[in-house]
Amino acid sequence: MNEHDSERIAGLLMADGLTPTEDLDQAGVVVFNTCAIRENAENRLYGNLGHLKPLKDRNPALRIVVAGCLAQKDQGAIQARAPWVDVVVGTHALPQLLDLLATAERDGPQMDVSESTEVFPSALPAARHDDFRAWVSIAPGCDNACTFCIVPLVRGPQRSRAIGDIVAEVQGLARRGVIEITLLGQNVNTYGRDVTVPGSSSRPLFADLLRVVGAIEGIRRVRFTSPHPHDFTPDVIDAMAETSSVCEHIHFPLQSGSDRVLKAMQRSYRRDRYLGWLERIRAAIPGIAVSTDIIVGFPTETEDDFQATLDVVERAGFDSAYTFQYSPRPGTRAAGFVEQVPKEVVQERFDRLLVLQERISLDRARAQVGHAFEVLVEGAGKRGPSVQARTRTNRIVHVPDELDPGTFAWTRITGAAAHYLTGELVPAPDVITV
Ligand code: SAM
Ligand code: SF4
Repeated sequence: MNEHDSERIAGLLMADGLTPTEDLDQAGVVVFNTCAIRENAENRLYGNLGHLKPLKDRNPALRIVVAGCLAQKDQGAIQARAPWVDVVVGTHALPQLLDLLATAERDGPQMDVSESTEVFPSALPAARHDDFRAWVSIAPGCDNACTFCIVPLVRGPQRSRAIGDIVAEVQGLARRGVIEITLLGQNVNTYGRDVTVPGSSSRPLFADLLRVVGAIEGIRRVRFTSPHPHDFTPDVIDAMAETSSVCEHIHFPLQSGSDRVLKAMQRSYRRDRYLGWLERIRAAIPGIAVSTDIIVGFPTETEDDFQATLDVVERAGFDSAYTFQYSPRPGTRAAGFVEQVPKEVVQERFDRLLVLQERISLDRARAQVGHAFEVLVEGAGKRGPSVQARTRTNRIVHVPDELDPGTFAWTRITGAAAHYLTGELVPAPDVITV
């Protein structure tokens, strides 16, 4: 979501006549688009702002902007700590960025951290990373209250975009050559809960959206992130299974394998239900890859709780996992829990989880060797003449050939590591299997 906002920020500035530069000394405007999800992101911002101070002293015309979730969270504290920042623009005020820059030019430092906006960032121009892949925001914000999470505080409640606007955006992207889209939301499967279909009282469902968007001509791959396990209803599984462009990959955040911790996190499922859903998804969509998010060291987590997480990780057999050390976030309920887990205990558990997940990821990757997959070429590889490509199941494949980004090819997998595969080009099979 933040990266997509960055594309919007770049789009706005470029529409105003600016061009991107890698050279700080050449820059007229520097924007930090920030994340507040863990404390280390926060520390990095203040470190980076410190590094810019001498540059601003040498070049007072330089405009420094802090945008995003930390801007929303820290508000006036940013300019108090770093008075050389010209503009602080929160998550809801992005459309005001150019006005704020112009006013700062005239009147000095500006801040807009309004609590809501009627303008979806998607209405703004975007400078996208690729011309063949695009993120599409469907429902910013979140109505849940997971006790560790700052997102609802900085992004506000969920606001679903009108289904017609989403379809129009995807059709426009397809006309410009985009072949893969990723639908974005904090809880994509509650999409539509807060809007009605025009001319009726019914609410559009995420499953409807998948089917409609998946049928748009030219869109060959549809991905989405993230669904909340609690809201992953059978109609979404059916829509995934029946819409050929929807890729066989799901990001399914577990957070913890301990029922006691899940309850304290205010995650509304328990381990058996989670594993049951996973089984159903795998039965309906053979070959589907599953990734997850796991937090280690949530306050009150005991060794037994952590063992329960290791156990679910082993049973679930995730293809990959984003693992996080719990980071207390101001304003969240868990930050006030008295029993925080000591840092060295968190680190030790985290390392054990990593070893287990690396082994599982490697096993899952090795199981792909010998199979053939359609891949979408993403760009040049790092070593020798090669490209990095991606399967529908979201696995990275390095192919020792020169192919154009945005083209499809077929590869047979010849080697596997925990985080990537290697493959050789093969002719497309007559019958396409995944
Ligand atoms: N909406 C998604 C869900 O419900 O699973 C999660 C979105 S959150 C932006 C991404 C991930 O960051 C979470 O799944 C969680 O694992 C991690 N995260 C969030 N708050 C955290 C915290 N305070 N400390 C450590 N990790 C955190
Ligand atoms: Fe945060 Fe996701 Fe929970 Fe919303 S559902 S509060 S974004 S972890």
